[in-house]
Amino acid sequence: MAMEGKPIRCRAAVAWKPGEALSVEEVMVAPPKAHEVRIKVMASGVCHTDWAYLHGAGKGMELRPFPLVLGHEGAGVVESVGAGVTRFSPGDKVIPLFLPQCGECDCCLSPKTNLCKANWAKTQQGVLADGTSRISCRGTQVFQFLGVSSFSEYTVTLETNLTKIHPDAELDRVCLLGCGVATGYGAAVNVAKVEEGSVCVVLGLGAVGLAAVMGCVSAGAARVIGVDVNPDKFDRAREFGVTDCVNPRDHKRPIQDVLVEMTSGGADYALECVGDVEVMRSALESCRSAWGVCVIVGWTELEEMKLLPFHLLMGRTLKGTYFGGWKSVTDIPQLVEQHLAGRLKLDEFVTHTLTLDEVNHAFQLLAGGQSIRSIIKM
Ligand code: NAD
Ligand code: ZN
Ligand code: ZN
Repeated sequence: MAMEGKPIRCRAAVAWKPGEALSVEEVMVAPPKAHEVRIKVMASGVCHTDWAYLHGAGKGMELRPFPLVLGHEGAGVVESVGAGVTRFSPGDKVIPLFLPQCGECDCCLSPKTNLCKANWAKTQQGVLADGTSRISCRGTQVFQFLGVSSFSEYTVTLETNLTKIHPDAELDRVCLLGCGVATGYGAAVNVAKVEEGSVCVVLGLGAVGLAAVMGCVSAGAARVIGVDVNPDKFDRAREFGVTDCVNPRDHKRPIQDVLVEMTSGGADYALECVGDVEVMRSALESCRSAWGVCVIVGWTELEEMKLLPFHLLMGRTLKGTYFGGWKSVTDIPQLVEQHLAGRLKLDEFVTHTLTLDEVNHAFQLLAGGQSIRSIIKM
């Protein structure tokens, strides 16, 4: 605890303006205040949502305060803790959580939801409970994306936005449980509640979609149809258990018509893992009437989705999910243990391992459809 109580000088990828490349530079990370924890980030996945808040700011996404340090799919080790923190000690392996679990709010007390409201408005605006961030660069406050900021060698989170994990966990793998893999997997098992023998459609075969496929397969789906406009995604999808691959660009008809025909009336479950309002509509319409369930996982905040109420009147259910329905603090360590027991894939999502200096390259790989997950190793 040599640096306990003192600011730490380290490196982070700073997003100075929307749409611009990240700039890796020296930052200061202040010590944790009461009920906060400072962590040494060891690894971070690069999620589509990081890219979207940089490049889609003001379009699909709300404009968040800049400058900011992105990254919300990290794993690390506790460096020091602020006053009043009892659940964490220096050296603990941890996963920072963009979705907290305070254990006290009405949502935490309900088994129906994972949407804890603790400090929600503040972390969405890039600050911690006291309205400030712990990261600064060249004397300017730098906002913390979703209260996390894992594209930094050190960061500070609220104790409610952190979970302790098994000491054997490989941090450059379990970081994926901080967002993408947990989200897609939970969308299938917790939100769609896929049943044995069912027919599933997963639209979008990036990390979130492949994790949804993994959830459908573990729930015993008889058939999992994978849909993507990038055919390079199909080989890996088959390895994850996709039984049929469909490229909408190979068809002149709307993709939902193709899917309804392939499934003799529609899928039992459809999961949208793209973040496109047209694909969301296709997902709903590719579900069968009477009991088909469509789950929206892909992210957009400002765009509107069109739908015909008739599709709902005919018994389809439309749902969405934030972080796959997991109660973050209590459930994520269990997913880590499932991975350690060999029951949950993580290695299979990793296509690239890069350094912090290569973070812009990671974004290019993601936007160009060449990666599933790049892991930034600090
Ligand atoms: P990704 O970019 O790796 O994958 C998206 C995939 O969709 C790509 O393979 C792409 O080729 C495919 N695609 C693009 N347009 C398509 C179309 N018209 N039809 C079919 N496929 C199409 O992204 P990801 O990291 O896997 O994230 C997927 C989505 O999930 C994003 O919108 C992300 O913001 C969102 N997300 C949501 C949550 C949540 O809590 N709900 C959490 C994490 C990510
Ligand atoms: Zn994410
Ligand atoms: Zn709560």
